[in-house]
Amino acid sequence: GPSVVWLRDDLRLGDNPALTAAVERGRPLALVYVLDEVSPGIRPLGGAAHWWLHQSLASLAADTAALGGRLLLRRGAAATVIGELVEELGAGAVFWNRRYGAAERDVDTRIKASLTDAGVVAHSFAGSLLFEPWTIRTGGGTPYTVFTPFWRACTAGPPPRAPYPAPASLDLPGDGDPSGDLAHPALAGAHSEDLASWELEPHGPDWADGLREAWTPGEDAAQQSLAAFLDDALPQYGTERDLPAQQATSRLSPHLRWGEISPHQIWHATDVARRGLTGAAATSATRFLTEVGWREFAYHVLFHAPDLATANLRPGFDAFPWPPLDDAALTAWRRGRTGFRLVDAGMRELWRTGSMHNRVRMVTASFLIKNLLIDWRLGEQWFWDTLVDADPASNPFGWQWVAGSGADAAPYFRVFNPELQAAKFDPNNEYVRQNVPEWGTAAYPQPIVDLGETRRAALAAYEQVKAAR
Ligand code: FAD
Repeated sequence: GPSVVWLRDDLRLGDNPALTAAVERGRPLALVYVLDEVSPGIRPLGGAAHWWLHQSLASLAADTAALGGRLLLRRGAAATVIGELVEELGAGAVFWNRRYGAAERDVDTRIKASLTDAGVVAHSFAGSLLFEPWTIRTGGGTPYTVFTPFWRACTAGPPPRAPYPAPASLDLPGDGDPSGDLAHPALAGAHSEDLASWELEPHGPDWADGLREAWTPGEDAAQQSLAAFLDDALPQYGTERDLPAQQATSRLSPHLRWGEISPHQIWHATDVARRGLTGAAATSATRFLTEVGWREFAYHVLFHAPDLATANLRPGFDAFPWPPLDDAALTAWRRGRTGFRLVDAGMRELWRTGSMHNRVRMVTASFLIKNLLIDWRLGEQWFWDTLVDADPASNPFGWQWVAGSGADAAPYFRVFNPELQAAKFDPNNEYVRQNVPEWGTAAYPQPIVDLGETRRAALAAYEQVKAAR
């Protein structure tokens, strides 16, 4: 019978190991995406992520059709949906690329077992990470908790495999195999839900104009972003990556989040570009790949600590004496009305475009936790709802890193001063002006807290954590 390729966080046709295996199997195939927001433990996607997913699926459906294939859209608990689809098509095999969250792995393990029981081939592949989390271990056999030795261990071995090309055609004949021939009509007639009916795009107020302006989701756009970055910005990446007013970083994170591009494609294209560079420019290329390594590390940590978004990695941090929540302060932070220019610029960039520069993510997160003394989990949830790259590993990892509750965290006594950060990384207030037009006028809010006082309060709270250990 035909093959089913179950797509999840890998919305691409190029370098897709599961798809490549299905094509090699040589039977008619169907691609399916299952919108599963009901299986136990699966974290519902946020609004900006829904918007991206809609655009990405539309793009993938068009790319699939152009190769003579079909992308089926189904909604519901994945175990039920995949089981029904296999039966409907008389499928002989189901292929997918692995996910690393605990709830997702549970779903996949159960589906694999029931397919295998039913005599259907079920095979999973490594498509979304360069290094599978369980393959990288310390000398003592434990997972890494510190980035530098983790990345050294990753890069000490052979380089990641080369990317697979996209299939030339997805219209595979049944090649005389009776079950294949019979299966073909079932495949052609298989039902696909209407993407619009999923209501992933905003309904009611349309807040997505800024997202549309800032982003083009899809595999083609991802490849174009990579090429443009390697051509124009890679040599200066090392010196300019911290300047939010510059277009100095790759802006690949949402494309990576949804798997429109693979880390293997990025790795190999960057490696080729690096060969043409020397000195600081070559160092920039290495630095860029190291940032991709932070994504690998975040997944390594998530794999070993599945509750990353809700539980402190260091249990000692549970003793942190969060004061009662100040709702007004949280609202001011979300809306970019704290009276601190770099914090406000970042929060407004996030609301308008669904993204925020990495340096500013650190500053806004530090401000919420250490100057407003608001639990990092509330910040993580806001980012989860508003980021187009909202990532189950990198987002909670980044928040725990800033909070000091996480792996290889910033030392707790390093409290960013948002004004000094602004002077250092946005010296001409270019980024501030792009995002906070009224800055410097009477219309701009007064600071909602005193930086010195709140810093002292945060340090006192951290002392209690230390004492509790
Ligand atoms: P580049 O500088 O061009 O880096 C290339 C790629 O490397 C990125 O696309 C990303 O996939 C990866 N990368 C770079 N820095 C990091 C990092 N610190 N941690 C993990 N991966 C990294 N990144 C997300 O993809 N999703 C998130 O939800 C997310 N939440 C964050 C929350 C906080 C509080 C912090 C401090 C960081 C967060 N990051 C997150 C990491 C980082 O800010 C973004 O990956 C980066 O800003 C994306 O821009 P870029 O693609 O231009 O990055």
